[in-house]
This record gives sequence, C-alpha cells and structure tokens, in this order.
Amino acid sequence: MIELVDVSKVYPGGVAALAGVTLRIERGELVAIVGPSGSGKSTMLNILGALDRPSSGTVRVDGHDVARLTDAELSALRASRIGFVFQQFHLAAGVSALDNVADGLLYCGQRPPARRRRAAVALERVGLGHRMDHEPHELSGGERQRVAVARAGAGDPPLLLADEPTGALDSVSGAGVMALLRELHGGGTTVVVITHDREIAASLPRQVRMRDGRIVADSVTGQVRAPAREVA
Ligand code: ADP
Ligand code: MG
Repeated sequence: MIELVDVSKVYPGGVAALAGVTLRIERGELVAIVGPSGSGKSTMLNILGALDRPSSGTVRVDGHDVARLTDAELSALRASRIGFVFQQFHLAAGVSALDNVADGLLYCGQRPPARRRRAAVALERVGLGHRMDHEPHELSGGERQRVAVARAGAGDPPLLLADEPTGALDSVSGAGVMALLRELHGGGTTVVVITHDREIAASLPRQVRMRDGRIVADSVTGQVRAPAREVA
C-alpha cells in the first residue's frame, strides 16, 4: 500500500525533518507511528498521504509513484483513495455534520442527493445519526472527531491516515474514536495512526518509532494483516 525508500524532507529554512526513511506498509495493516514531538511523524504522514512531496527519495502510494504525478493527479489520488483524520478535526465551521461528511465525497462522482445519503449512512455508523444537522460548534470534541472519522471513511478509501486523532480528546472519547478506526481496519482499510498515547500504540499490531527524522524501531506485536478485503 505504501513504500518509502530513502525519503528525506528538508523544509525551507533548512530543517531536515526526515533523514533517509525507508518504510513499507502492506495492504490491510494497522500501524502506530510513535516518537517525541518534532521527530518527523507529521511530516512523514503528510508524505504518506501525498499532501507533501519529499525532497529526495521514492514514495509509492497505492501503486503510484508520487514523483510522476502532477499536483492535480496527487489531489485526485488523495481525494479518491485516502481518508485523513487530524488532531484538531479540520471540520468546516458553519456547516452541518451531514454536509461536512457529504463534501468529503465531492470527488466520488455522485450527485449531491446520493452523497448526502451516503454521508448519512456514515454518520449512523459512527453513532451520530441524531446529530446530522448539528454544526461543529454544537458538538463535543469526541463527536467532532467521530464526524471527521465518518468523513474520512465515507468514501471507503483503501488507506486512512490519522495524525494524533485522540490528542485533543478525553480518554473515553479517544477510546471511542480508536474503536471506529479499528472497525474501518476490520473492513479492510489500511490504517496508520500517529499517537503519543503509549497504551494506544501498544494495542496496535505494529509500532514504528521515530526519532530525529529517522525510524529507530519497527516492531510487530500482533497479527498484522487484516483478512483480505473482498473485491467489490
Ligand atoms: P512531529 O509530528 O513528530 O512532532 P513534525 O513532522 O511536525 O514532527 O516536525 C519535524 C521537524 O520539522 C520539526 O523540527 C519541525 O519544527 C519542523 N517542521 C515541521 N513543519 C515545518 C514547516 N512547514 N516548515 C519548517 N519546518 C517544519
Ligand atoms: Mg505532529
């Protein structure tokens, strides 16, 4: 699903956020990325998700060599194949939960009524069928993140990337969000989660540890692959 070969990222100003990272993540894995603040986790996730390009090295996402894609092709890859969840939710303010999720389906080629129906199903699935008309400011943090997970998963993407998805939540809401991510993984989605939470990291089958822009440990403690996803 993902292959990074000797990937480096130097930001303008000279910060080397990634220094030669090689990583392979197979289809159907559930992986934790851990490491201290500033170790390059978000930078790596942005590159895995084709949100950013590396300074050097090779990145393959879902069979595509990112360097060979135009910016428009990269956007299409992201929109159609990758779901994102961020610590601060990134929902549109003043927009209902239903439309936040439906807008995430803009690239799926369906018309607005079909997108809305699909969004409603995704919200039901995360237990928010009774909150569809609420705007983000009318929802708790945990509910906002469930909307974000519904949006990320509504298009049934093969890859879901989450950057500290429980970082802004109390432990109960965080556990709820992790349960939803596991559910998506159980359905065949490859899931990569950056987390500071040791318990969460330890509960995932594989942990990749970063420090100073490098991978310093990569351990498998559980069954890594989900059952193969049925071909639709
Ligand atoms: P983490 O997510 O592990 O906390 P980041 O990937 O966000 O780490 O950051 C890695 C390093 O790159 C840090 O030193 C950070 O300050 C720097 N950095 C991150 N984003 C940028 C940016 N857009 N411009 C310049 N430096 C950045
Ligand atoms: Mg980060």
